[in-house]
Amino acid sequence: MKPIAVVVEHDGRTILPVTHELIHLATLLAARIHAPIVLVVPGAGHPDMADELARRGMQTIDLAIPGIDGYNSGAYKTALADLFTSLLPAYILVAHTATGRDFAPGLAVRLSGTAIAGVNNLLWEDGAPIFSRPVFNGAKNALVRADKFPCIAMVQPSAFLSPDAPAPAPLPGTVETMEIQCPDPGIKRLATRSADKGGDDLERAAVIVSAGRGLGSRENLGAVEEFTSLFPNAAMGVSRPLVDEGWMAYRFQVGITGATVSPEVYIACGISGSSQHLAGIMGSKTIVSINSDPNAAIFNHSDYCIVEDLLDFISAFEAIAASVDDPDR
Ligand code: FAD
Repeated sequence: MKPIAVVVEHDGRTILPVTHELIHLATLLAARIHAPIVLVVPGAGHPDMADELARRGMQTIDLAIPGIDGYNSGAYKTALADLFTSLLPAYILVAHTATGRDFAPGLAVRLSGTAIAGVNNLLWEDGAPIFSRPVFNGAKNALVRADKFPCIAMVQPSAFLSPDAPAPAPLPGTVETMEIQCPDPGIKRLATRSADKGGDDLERAAVIVSAGRGLGSRENLGAVEEFTSLFPNAAMGVSRPLVDEGWMAYRFQVGITGATVSPEVYIACGISGSSQHLAGIMGSKTIVSINSDPNAAIFNHSDYCIVEDLLDFISAFEAIAASVDDPDR
């Protein structure tokens, strides 16, 4: 049986949480198509990470590319194509992150397979897996079935959160070390600069209130800040256009190229619901959206939909909150 391969996402020192979501999806697939799972840790050689994964009972390949200095898309594509040409997986699971988006499509071309971007759900038809991915700016989901293999599913972070914490297996899996030479990856990494990404407040907050372009002007940010302060353990976020406009720093951006959040409550104010924004919020327990357009795409993903001008809603909400605080009113 052709295996299901998972390309482990890591930062050179630790396994990133999205890897556990990929493994969760792999187990869902494996349970139905009865295929073995193989985890692949590409990079400079990372036996510690490979051992950690094997402790969960899975077959792991530590794919060492001599001379690689951090992530390198050219080297990843060459080494993974080489490995998968002999391993022949039917499905390859890759995170739909900056790294995964960079190498997965090119890898699919080299393997004469398919790549499905932005996978956010798994369904079944006649025993075959069907992947769902957002289209039309998140307004709809397309259902896609691969007819050319291997099929690389590029999986949205937070789309396959496992209800159970990863547990060590009674019997550890095996670790195989492979070395694939890639002397000329075609790309040279000059430097890595850390992004201005201090979204600690967003990661810890129980309630996140995010403002989008529907805010209208920078002057209205204060209203959303005040609204945020009404909730305990709350933080403010924004959609990308507000960062592009220079109204807020990048560390407040929520979405695929910003913070991925999973608060108890996410309140989207004047946000349309693009796939890039949704990618960062789908781990939220409850999503509340305030939008003046009743057809806004974000309503398709919200638990509570409020069709209203956001400033009108905020002032009405504040008036009610004040009257609750002041029992004489
Ligand atoms: P809009 O799409 O303009 O929506 C504004 C909404 O406000 C509309 O739905 C409108 O009905 C509503 N509205 C207007 N007036 C009012 C009012 N008075 N009261 C209530 N509602 C009102 N975006 C992100 O957010 N995060 C990312 O990480 C991200 N990464 C990206 C990466 C790439 C590679 C690309 C190409 C794009 C990325 N984007 C990201 C941008 C994304 O595609 C959208 O453009 C963006 O999310 C739209 O932001 P928005 O919803 O605030 O604005």
